[in-house]
Amino acid sequence: PKVDLTAQELADKGFKGHDMLAPFTAGWQTTDLHPLVIERSEGSYVYDTNGRKYLDSLAGLWCTALGGNEPRLVEAAHKQLSVLPFYHSFWNRTTKPSLDLAKELLEMFTARKMGKAFFTNSGSEANDTQVKLVWYYNNALGRPNKKKFIARSKSYHGSTLIAASLSGLPALHQKFDLPVPFVLHTDCPHYWRFHLPGETEEEFATRLADNLEKLILKEGPETIAAFIAEPVMGAGGVIPPPATYFEKVQAVVKKYDILFIADEVICAFGRLGTMFGCDKYGIKPDLVSIAKALSSGYLPIGAVLVSPEIAEVIHAQSSKLGVFSHGFTYSGHPVSCAVALEALKIYKERNIVEQVQKLSPRFQDGLKAFSDSPIIGEIRGTGLIIGTEFTDNKSPNDPFPPEWGVGAYFGAECEKRGMLVRVAGDNIMMCPPFIITPEEIEQLISTYGEALRATE
Ligand code: PLP
Repeated sequence: PKVDLTAQELADKGFKGHDMLAPFTAGWQTTDLHPLVIERSEGSYVYDTNGRKYLDSLAGLWCTALGGNEPRLVEAAHKQLSVLPFYHSFWNRTTKPSLDLAKELLEMFTARKMGKAFFTNSGSEANDTQVKLVWYYNNALGRPNKKKFIARSKSYHGSTLIAASLSGLPALHQKFDLPVPFVLHTDCPHYWRFHLPGETEEEFATRLADNLEKLILKEGPETIAAFIAEPVMGAGGVIPPPATYFEKVQAVVKKYDILFIADEVICAFGRLGTMFGCDKYGIKPDLVSIAKALSSGYLPIGAVLVSPEIAEVIHAQSSKLGVFSHGFTYSGHPVSCAVALEALKIYKERNIVEQVQKLSPRFQDGLKAFSDSPIIGEIRGTGLIIGTEFTDNKSPNDPFPPEWGVGAYFGAECEKRGMLVRVAGDNIMMCPPFIITPEEIEQLISTYGEALRATE
């Protein structure tokens, strides 16, 4: 159906819609006669209601790290559901799985020592929580003006009011009256797209750190509370940082007493071939957001890790006020926590980081071998995450006309051949489960190659 038809016009033409106001879906898409309805999953595959099998190259939505039917996660959920399906964690009443998970996360995160874990249901809630924590912290320290956040263009931090504001993707702001005024955006660290002629990666990183410093000075360092960054940008098109980038931006934020928030929602638990993205790039954050692979996507759960210094201030302030008035009914949901605990146990037992390190060279090299295609501008990634950007003339400055729908065409060609990829305009993203086998990686590469030839 054509994009410009109204729902009524589509209905008049016989297109039946479904009843969901679907996330990140165009109105005209829901009136399509053929929504893809997924019914079950097994390992790296999902099956639709017609019994068709697809290699799930995006691990659900960057989350099902242990694939589609890990019995230990099902058993962990079942066991917890039979004992205690729910109890909350408010007012110093809590549950054992949530206490155990907090302890486990603080032990697992070793890029620097963290002090406390706060539970949410999602990555967006984790990032919203970050903003409130930082404000609360600065208010407690008597710095009521230090309230602005700096995020980066093309970042994705979620879709609630604040998380969407932090995100640097115009589609998340358009017609939503966002971003909120206390969020500022600095450069996207995409070397291929934004470097100047003759500029090395290191020089590019220096220029971006300088620009960040200029923005801080222009706004007044006393007004900037925190900087937030994904170690590798995900939904913005899979953008690993240029060499020396994090070293340089960390030095800048430290200089002005600005907190560093690492959004590890996609990168945590092995995705990049290190347990956390912070380990890979030498990031020593003050706050960390995690979600997705925390439960391998089996149940909704997210978390914020808070540095000991911030935790201490929050502790003291909440004692003064009587209570730390932030939280969700399902913060530390015992069933989600039990599943997450089991997922973390499996990551450790199966040396998931080593497994990703073993699988990633063939995954990366096999796909990057298609870089010569005349319709590909760049293929980029690390570990088990990769992005492809289609452009003309191999140039970041020559996008294909959007109405050609090159990315959508490629995505449909993959789907026809039994593989699901994430399409965002002319960006294609893949992020398979960690349990993908070498044979399945070969299938993924050959399906990609066939779809690419059909698209060329
Ligand atoms: N942060 C990052 C880096 C993400 O990729 C996402 C989701 O894709 C989020 C936050 C938001 O997480 P959620 O969709 O669970 O709210």
